[in-house]
Amino acid sequence: MSTLLDTLNRPIRDLRISVTDRCNFRCVYCMPREVFDSNHVFLPRRELLSFEELERLVRLFAEEGVRKLRLTGGEPLVRNDLEQLIERLANVHGIDDIAITTNASLITPARAKGLRDAGLNRVNVSLDALDDDTFKAVNDVDISVQTVLDGIAHCRDAGFDDIKINMVVKRGMNEDDVLPMAKYFHGSGHILRFIEFMDVGNANGWQPDAVFNAQQIVDTIHNALPLEAVEPNYAGEVAKRWRYTDGGGEIGVIGSVSQPFCGDCHRARLSAVGQLYTCLFASMGHDFRSLLRDGSDDDALRERLRAVWSHRSDRYSEVRASLAGTPIKKVEMSYIGG
Ligand code: SAM
Ligand code: SF4
Ligand code: SF4
Repeated sequence: MSTLLDTLNRPIRDLRISVTDRCNFRCVYCMPREVFDSNHVFLPRRELLSFEELERLVRLFAEEGVRKLRLTGGEPLVRNDLEQLIERLANVHGIDDIAITTNASLITPARAKGLRDAGLNRVNVSLDALDDDTFKAVNDVDISVQTVLDGIAHCRDAGFDDIKINMVVKRGMNEDDVLPMAKYFHGSGHILRFIEFMDVGNANGWQPDAVFNAQQIVDTIHNALPLEAVEPNYAGEVAKRWRYTDGGGEIGVIGSVSQPFCGDCHRARLSAVGQLYTCLFASMGHDFRSLLRDGSDDDALRERLRAVWSHRSDRYSEVRASLAGTPIKKVEMSYIGG
């Protein structure tokens, strides 16, 4: 079978699956309380793709080239029995890597072990500050830094050896925590990845001057802990790699705004209700749930995927500047996952 490529010759390799639109945090840059308040209507259970439906889609997507899965949300660990889903997906032919992105606040020792036993390969933990007041101001639900650090420790104890820490940096929110975070994870064996604040969705009121950019992040760290650039692990790696010259390990910097990387983007995102988004900044998804639920056969689903991907031309980050000022309705991050 021919390799499925988009109009810019990019294959589909990674699938990010949002398993829920709910979250126990209200991070100010993602689910600000003013928007995601008690009046916000979250998806009812029946609307979410079932584990059977997800397994079927992943099997077909794997046939078209998908190798890596990332479970995300919302907070993926608020979805009941997530371990059962992981077990199913780990057995799909062609899938060689399953990762999760989580705020880690719900990870107990038993949950960490359950995730590992189910076949989860990697964990990315989001932590935006080491200072408790700053972190609580970001998550807006009074969860302490220690809760997240405990979650990381439980994952390590359960045998996960590739745990990355993700820190979104927003000017005026947490740029003063860049260096303390770097120092804390220096020498820990965990790769800390800094992520520029992005204009995903419309709820967070993004403005260009709120971006503390990749160069500023590197300079802040380099002045105290000297860094040198490292070659990427593979083409299309989104994080630029930097190594501490004193042997204290490495960091990653994801400059989605200042250093766009659409050229190698082989990621697709599936919302919890089965809409496929071919770009993080898309305003529209492509419906797969109706086909899953109307008795369509595998060929019909395959055909839809091939039609969607072969027409894909997304490169939003590369054309962002030229769109400045154009109002665009974009899907929220908590809906399609990071
Ligand atoms: N709840 C999980 C978590 O926070 O890890 C998974 C979902 S969350 C939407 C996935 C990632 O997206 C997190 O690392 C989060 O910090 C990041 N994120 C959310 N909104 C963002 C934004 N506007 N810019 C950059 N990263 C963002
Ligand atoms: Fe929840 Fe993750 Fe968004 Fe924070 S970044 S509100 S933890 S989904
Ligand atoms: Fe991929 Fe869209 Fe991000 Fe470009 S802007 S890297 S196409 S998700």
